[in-house]
Amino acid sequence: MTTLTGSGIGLGIAQGPVARVSDPLPKPENTPSTAGAEAEKARFRTSVAVVARELEDRGARAGGTAQDVLEAQAMIAEDPTLAEEVDARLDDGATAEWAVVDAFAAFREMLTQAGGYLGERAADLDDVAQRVLADLRGVAAPGLPQPGHPYVLVARDLAPADTALLDLDQVLAVVTSDGGPTSHTAILAREKGIVAVVGVTGARDLTDGETVIVDAENGAVVTDPTEAELTAASDRAEARKAAAAAPLKPGALADGTAVMLLANLGSPDGAAGAVELGAEGVGLFRTEFLFLSADEAPTVEDQQAAYTKLLQAFPGQKVVVRALDAGADKPLKFLNDDDEDNPALGMRGIRILREREQILRDQLTALANADAATDADLWVMAPMVATVDETRYFTDLAHELGIRTAGVMVEVPSAALIADRILAHTEFASIGTNDLTQYTMAADRLLGSVAALQSPWHPAVLQLVRSVGTAGADAGKPVGICGEAAADPLLAVVLVGLGATSLSMAPAALADVRLSLSQYTLEDAQRIARAALAADDAASARTAARDAAEKKEKEA
Ligand code: PEP
Ligand code: MG
Repeated sequence: MTTLTGSGIGLGIAQGPVARVSDPLPKPENTPSTAGAEAEKARFRTSVAVVARELEDRGARAGGTAQDVLEAQAMIAEDPTLAEEVDARLDDGATAEWAVVDAFAAFREMLTQAGGYLGERAADLDDVAQRVLADLRGVAAPGLPQPGHPYVLVARDLAPADTALLDLDQVLAVVTSDGGPTSHTAILAREKGIVAVVGVTGARDLTDGETVIVDAENGAVVTDPTEAELTAASDRAEARKAAAAAPLKPGALADGTAVMLLANLGSPDGAAGAVELGAEGVGLFRTEFLFLSADEAPTVEDQQAAYTKLLQAFPGQKVVVRALDAGADKPLKFLNDDDEDNPALGMRGIRILREREQILRDQLTALANADAATDADLWVMAPMVATVDETRYFTDLAHELGIRTAGVMVEVPSAALIADRILAHTEFASIGTNDLTQYTMAADRLLGSVAALQSPWHPAVLQLVRSVGTAGADAGKPVGICGEAAADPLLAVVLVGLGATSLSMAPAALADVRLSLSQYTLEDAQRIARAALAADDAASARTAARDAAEKKEKEA
């Protein structure tokens, strides 16, 4: 038995025989074209258009995120810079086949060197190159295997076009040797609930037909497993299936400590789906998403209609709405100037709302009216709060305008560091780990080249979470988490160990987080959190937490 390791997506586990994606097409020789540059250009343009339309067509059939991904890939195929690179080679006398492979390889190199998010787009580019080459040669593009029985799909990295249309009755799990947690394979696997481990060193040596266990929770692929391991794996898969099918229970730790599990939403339309997946309410409603394309500030009436629709979907439940968080990655035309050098550090969130107070007043009035007309338990919070003064300002204004429960987001390190004083002036805090990580690590959350620094597992980020958790416990006030970190099943346990009292996430993550929390007591969660806090960096914090969590499993 050997264990290969990589990044697991979700908590699933599966086992079965390997089937590999077929090898890439043979590389063309660099022999001079006999047809001439213009004819070769026409062949290239035709093939690229065929490939782009086919990608769009697959996207339309798949829908959802897959459609966005495939449409982006079709745009890559028709990227004018790439076409110029190909044309330059054709003008030098190359064949279209060789020019495509060579120009795409040069572009791939650039992306790989950029690293992070861009680096992980390299697989998309390889797939486009293979499809164009196949069309030029009049052969089928390399694609998914069809062994005639369910299989564990092994690939270097899956093309989005293939991941989007995976037959989930046939594909038991996906293992890739390349790609990281933000590759398109990972994004789509997460959305479709496919058991997947990506970036697995040694995956290239797996052979067709050999049986493996794919353990996403532990980021492991076990080759040559023993009978006992196979049985343990299928027991775990069954337990997970049973947990997913069981009547939905409120989030809680193994000792019964309640941890409310809430949904992050950007539109009232997502409410029904969130309720179906067991959301106990809403932990973050991003109101700015409703008005991203608006030129003018929305009226009280328009807002009231949207908020009423949202609140009606959660009778008797908590719904936390965030006042407009305009700026940086989410600029609103009616609130932001576009001439700041560093918009993430500029007039955004509560700063711009305070300057344009009428817009904030209108929003709070619309929210209070919607609250009065419905039965939900409305809480409203301010984004990007950095100071006690901002906290008092927002809380007082919200109360003045009829909001019963007002709080602040903790996304700026200053607010986390003086959370005790912040919480003295407001009713709750909700930690936005996406921005808190960005500002703690000084790493732009939109920039692929610094993505490695953007991990909420970093002990510096965890220490700030602890500061807020401790202040909340001392003041007897709730501390929620509403950044992406809450959707990571193990990190969710750590966050509760650091003092979070509720977790809010994309609804698709609720089942895995609910199951993960149910396995640990509060004492376990605190011990696991201490292990992560004591680590040197994000990767070792995760390993330390995993080791501390396993210790508990062995003792049980
Ligand atoms: C956050 O920053 O973690 C957060 C939840 O807010 P947003 O992602 O909308 O900035
Ligand atoms: Mg934020």
